[in-house]
Amino acid sequence: MDLDIASLTIGKIRHALDTRAASATELAGEALRFAQAENPKTGAYLHFSPERALAAARRVDEKIARGEDPGELAGVPVAVKDVIVTKGLRTTCGSKMLADYVPPYDATAIERIERAGALILGKTNCDEFAMGSSTENSAFGPVRNPRAPDRVPGGSSGGSAAAVAQGTAVVALGSDTGGSIRQPASFCGVVGVTPTYGRVSRYGLTAFASSLDHIGPFARSVRDAAALLGTMAGRDPRDATSAAAPVPDYTSQLNRKVEGLKLGLPPEYLKELKGESGDVFFQGVEVLKKLGCEVREVAMPHTDYAIATYYIIATAEASSNLARYDGVRYTFRSQHSSTLAEMYRATRGEGFGAECKRRIMLGTYVLSAGYYDAYYLKAQKVRALVARDFAQAFNQVDAIVAPVSPFPAFRLGEKIDDPLAMYLSDIFTITGSLAGVPCMSVPCGTTAEGLPVGLQILTRHFDETTMFRIADAFENA
Ligand code: GLN
Repeated sequence: MDLDIASLTIGKIRHALDTRAASATELAGEALRFAQAENPKTGAYLHFSPERALAAARRVDEKIARGEDPGELAGVPVAVKDVIVTKGLRTTCGSKMLADYVPPYDATAIERIERAGALILGKTNCDEFAMGSSTENSAFGPVRNPRAPDRVPGGSSGGSAAAVAQGTAVVALGSDTGGSIRQPASFCGVVGVTPTYGRVSRYGLTAFASSLDHIGPFARSVRDAAALLGTMAGRDPRDATSAAAPVPDYTSQLNRKVEGLKLGLPPEYLKELKGESGDVFFQGVEVLKKLGCEVREVAMPHTDYAIATYYIIATAEASSNLARYDGVRYTFRSQHSSTLAEMYRATRGEGFGAECKRRIMLGTYVLSAGYYDAYYLKAQKVRALVARDFAQAFNQVDAIVAPVSPFPAFRLGEKIDDPLAMYLSDIFTITGSLAGVPCMSVPCGTTAEGLPVGLQILTRHFDETTMFRIADAFENA
């Protein structure tokens, strides 16, 4: 087989299968070998699933032999964030609490990508229960950024972003609650997409903050990200919040002119943007102007309240969702207790890391009877105002362009002792999450030191097509 594993694309794999240059089984073997050999450099994968990948590859080869369509992701090696459940394959959520948890079912997104011919190579490291912005909150140690090994890959989907950047997966699945796909994509120099809330079923995505959680793709090109989203998207009767909206053929809408599209630049974001990340971002905006886009300012007046709002709503929902880890229903149970109440306390005390505990306490506080109106209810109202900012902006423009992060990848250990500084790194991604609109990060350039910087594109609910079209034109330019 004469293929460079680290630079494969969905299209190249399809071509190799169609011309019989490689079989899916050969591809799976090579991809696994390469990923296992390279993984120690970053620690992107927590564990591999060779049997599962090879079985999927055999199914693809059998279909090809029978002359059947092997599916849109035929033979494509995929990495999956370890918060998405996989039947018979350990799913840890980066937590000691689930270190030995083997789920009895597959997430809908997993079922759909495997039905499309994908090969799941393994599960990737992440912040514990997806809480964090650097992947340093994992109980299993940090991930290194493939572009700068002394730096974080971003988070919480840092392992998935690193695997795609490193070439140990062609595409990957991540999850985004407040920026966990876009920010690591930006830090690692890959494409990361948070679809509209409800576009992809959350069935089998371990719940962090249910009203904000999304599954979305990572890829090395806009085209591959669009193709992967297309296979996962659409109504699922097992998730009542999944949307019935028809799923367009995203890839067929690429390679189109973007001349005349109106793009909004929110001044509220730009005042927070300083230094080199700002320079790279503004160069990106100039590229969009050269492509014929009309760029104008649009006001997003409630931006300043987004972080506070998010950290009330997300912690409230997390405190409720994480109540299920009680030492009875899942795998981890403390051995240091003699009564039931002590067992609950000791299990949660030993099983959760510091960040999860901080959020459970914050969330319990904002939901408590005396404070519900002052915090949770108020936050829900402000969330509606943030969403209204977007609705009003989209009356004037086709898309919003914004930075992804105020700074490029920071050093391992740099922010881990300062939770507030870590929370502030989400400043540009959280508004889109609160509004539930589709948003993505596309590589924009690098700093003088060679650290990647992403550009964020946000569009109307369910208009991923316009978002991909702009990102694709930008990538090609
Ligand atoms: N960094 C944010 C947080 O810590 C977002 C995490 C996410 O999107 N899962 O909550």
